[in-house]
Amino acid sequence: MRGALGGPGVLLRRLREVMAASISPQERLDRLVVLIAGNLVAEVCSVYVLREDGSLELYATEGLNREAVHLTTMRAGEGLVGLIASEAEPLALSDAQAHPSFSYRPETGEEVYRSFLGVPILRGGAVMGVLVIQNRASRIYSEEEIESLQTTAMLMAEMIAAGGLKSLAAPGASIGLDRPIHGVGVILADGVGLGHVVLHEPRVAITNLIAENPAAEVSRLEAAIGEMRASIDELVERGDVAHTGEHRDVLETFRMFAHDQGWLRRMREVVLTGLTAEAAVERVQSDTRAKMLRQTDPYLRERLHDLDDLANRLLRTLVGKANGVTHESLPENAIVVARSMGPAALLDYDRAHLRGLVLEEGGPTSHIAIVARALGIPAVGEVANATALVEAGDAIIVDGQAGEVQIRPQPDVENAYKDKARLRARKQKQYEKLKELPATTRDGVEITLQINAGLIVDIPNIEATAASGIGLFRTELQFMVAQHMPTTAEQQALYTAVLNAVQDRPVTFRTLDIGGDKVLPYMERVEEENPALGWRAIRIGLDKPRLLRAQLRAMLRAGAGRDLKIMLPMVATTDEFRRARMIIRREQAMLEKQGVAPPSDLRVGVMVEVPSLLFELSEIAREADFLSIGTNDLMQFLFAADRENKRVADRFDPLGVGALRALRRIVEAASETGCPVTVCGEMGGKPLETMALIGLGYRGFSMSAASIGPVKAMLRALDVRKLRERMDWMLASPEGATSLRPQLAAFATEFKVPV
Ligand code: PEP
Ligand code: MG
Repeated sequence: MRGALGGPGVLLRRLREVMAASISPQERLDRLVVLIAGNLVAEVCSVYVLREDGSLELYATEGLNREAVHLTTMRAGEGLVGLIASEAEPLALSDAQAHPSFSYRPETGEEVYRSFLGVPILRGGAVMGVLVIQNRASRIYSEEEIESLQTTAMLMAEMIAAGGLKSLAAPGASIGLDRPIHGVGVILADGVGLGHVVLHEPRVAITNLIAENPAAEVSRLEAAIGEMRASIDELVERGDVAHTGEHRDVLETFRMFAHDQGWLRRMREVVLTGLTAEAAVERVQSDTRAKMLRQTDPYLRERLHDLDDLANRLLRTLVGKANGVTHESLPENAIVVARSMGPAALLDYDRAHLRGLVLEEGGPTSHIAIVARALGIPAVGEVANATALVEAGDAIIVDGQAGEVQIRPQPDVENAYKDKARLRARKQKQYEKLKELPATTRDGVEITLQINAGLIVDIPNIEATAASGIGLFRTELQFMVAQHMPTTAEQQALYTAVLNAVQDRPVTFRTLDIGGDKVLPYMERVEEENPALGWRAIRIGLDKPRLLRAQLRAMLRAGAGRDLKIMLPMVATTDEFRRARMIIRREQAMLEKQGVAPPSDLRVGVMVEVPSLLFELSEIAREADFLSIGTNDLMQFLFAADRENKRVADRFDPLGVGALRALRRIVEAASETGCPVTVCGEMGGKPLETMALIGLGYRGFSMSAASIGPVKAMLRALDVRKLRERMDWMLASPEGATSLRPQLAAFATEFKVPV
């Protein structure tokens, strides 16, 4: 539309003059509302800013009663302004007072205005306020007017974010930008970290918002889109996506979005309102984000990530920054906040400064979680919208004990966490003291405690915990953090380094457990309806033994003349075990022919994690040299509950009668045949769960290094005979209880067992 003062481009140029003028923030706002009202031929223009408490405060107005400025407030969701803020959508009404949400504020004198147009002030998809125009006459606002007001709102957002309005806040009511936020997610890695936000993929800062020459901006946008498409086409076509860590089908979806006409048209339209190309990309993305964040459909939310990535690529091209993550030097006490991250990216950060990790994605058994635990970095995952809620440098606390984050915490909250961190440090010291003491229960039962590992960074944890060995070495981690498929020589080098480092302690190397949720970025992905039940681990090893054989050679060479333990994952039948063992024997015979010394003692064991093996227990326990229970997978398959799916992962309790009876059968079958058995899933690292497992008869555990202290403290206070009696009784007569957790916890309290 063409307003009284010219087109939208003219408005933006005038707004820029006002922004640049050296006047007070209030005066600036006052002039802006006059300009906007004049340009859009409205009698009223008002700005409401979101406050820390979630309410909206009138910050400036042209047309309404000026006395109401900084006095009139709307609660979240209250009135039309509150509605716009909570929905993050524009609202245009020709008869505002007829709307059910209309809330009359006598001090403003707005009763004479019938038409109403309000738009959210958005930044990075987060609402920062509401911009409104009103007219006396009943009228319909055009699409172009709505567009123009949204563009203006973007400028306001930058003004608020730049801190220009902070000084205007009513006493005791700071603006929402500084609002403390309590985010809830899931525990990825234990610990408490206090520090400041470092964005893993920082938002591209846009300094130039208003176009000098709109036609030139359209050309810049077109050129950047062309470049972005070409780079994505190249990525897809090259077929080698290893260095980006992105997967091919992700790229295909990417390519589809990069050619999405609706998205591109929106950006062109916004450029034509007078913004620079980069400001237009940012605006469209902010609107899209605001809409998508209100979606609960995981598919749509996933698509938001694709669009975010593309928008970021465009922005980088437009402001001349290289694509990809740049790792500037990390500040002290850095807490990295990311949408998602691969394990390799985490390892790129300087450990000495890293205090925590917050992700929008990432379940407790994801690889990034495993690596965070290995590094001892407190981490919380599945924090909705985390990257949009923070600004780089914000104070933040990661509570990996509770699975929570505190963004911009109030001083009392911060102090409470400092206390919590101190308490933890004290406990760690106590665990440290336990290091020298044997892992023996009160009544003299010896328990073997080993650690789970998979990377070189895990190795110092053996000394630090005085663990008796590595009960599960997840060899796939080397593959997952690598940019290319590790060669046999690289594998052998890692295994040798591990064996050298542990000296005479045992290490159980598990053969590659890939497939399912464990995807290698450089390997072709096989599309499966149910990857967890699909072609994975030993199944791949038996069908296409090349990779398995290469790995076995690496293990056997590293283990020449030493004790070597090899463990097979996801075995479902005794027959699978026999076939895999045959391959191992063949490889060993071949190496011996080549003059490689055999291991001084070779043991081949099996993971018990597929429930079918529970019905071949006597066979498998007789034939395998040892058993190790993968409770993560065993529970997921026993209960048919995806270990990564938050909705069902906690639905069934491993301390339930059914699960405990299954676990008892395994330990009984193992002891009948004299086959050693340990527990290496997460269940065996939680004190209460481990207590229950000891009660069932288990004597060996392999767990994350951080669990050794708490588990040792628990078992040293435990009287196994008493627990065993109690558990036999509980399992025989559960009295309708499905979970024995409360009874086990009561036992622990009664006998002062710290769990
Ligand atoms: C398990 O399944 O419990 C296990 C230890 O293996 P992973 O977590 O690597 O699947
Ligand atoms: Mg498993």
